[in-house]
Amino acid sequence: MNSNSGMRGIRQVRRKKSSLSEVKLVILGAPGVGKSALTVRFLTKRYIGEYDHQSDSRYKHEIAVDGDPVIFEICDTSTKSAVDLPAAELVSWADGLVLVYSITDRSSFTYLKQVFNHIQDVRGVAQVKEKDVPMLILGNKGDMVHLRQVSSEEGEILAKDFDCNFLEVAAADQVNEIAESFYELCREISAVRRKNKTSLLERVLGTKNGNRVYHRGKSDSSLSKY
Ligand code: GDP
Ligand code: MG
Repeated sequence: MNSNSGMRGIRQVRRKKSSLSEVKLVILGAPGVGKSALTVRFLTKRYIGEYDHQSDSRYKHEIAVDGDPVIFEICDTSTKSAVDLPAAELVSWADGLVLVYSITDRSSFTYLKQVFNHIQDVRGVAQVKEKDVPMLILGNKGDMVHLRQVSSEEGEILAKDFDCNFLEVAAADQVNEIAESFYELCREISAVRRKNKTSLLERVLGTKNGNRVYHRGKSDSSLSKY
């Protein structure tokens, strides 16, 4: 292999890397609901029961979604108390938000309503309504039904209010269901990007539904005619 073909090889690898889609997620919820357990479950398939994180943890991990590699950048927030709201910069940074409560802790469920209002304040009501920042609600600790404080129906109603997907899960004993819920969020983010790209193209090209809106002006005389 000569040095030229070597360079070409490197360029190709670079191009491939940079064309990988990146998805930024922020995991939000009250303390102790299982945000870290769910994040690590998704990223490593493993369940680690005890974490002692004093601050937010950031991960960058490549995972295949529907056969395509996606780089997940995840911020697992560490809320100190259920009155703390997530930092506005984080809420703005996210492409998608995972809102976690525990089915065994009603106050963690109520906390999500506060978080949702905060998201609307930061991102704007219109953007949230348009679903430009897709969200997912996870009701965790589904294995602890004997200690349930929040019914499945309440979770479903909350998801209707927030206009997003909802799933009861157990980081303690589920792998595939948790992964699938993250993949679905990723698909929604891709759909938002496609939509935004199309509307940007339409604005730039002045087209709608693929029909070019074209006004002949004076300067057009220099253009070749058919
Ligand atoms: P975070 O503060 O929201 O990040 O919560 P952690 O992930 O640190 O979990 C808090 C506690 O809940 C830990 O003791 C975990 O072992 C426990 N936990 C997390 N997920 C589950 C679950 O699905 N079922 C049960 N029974 N416990 C869980
Ligand atoms: Mg944590």
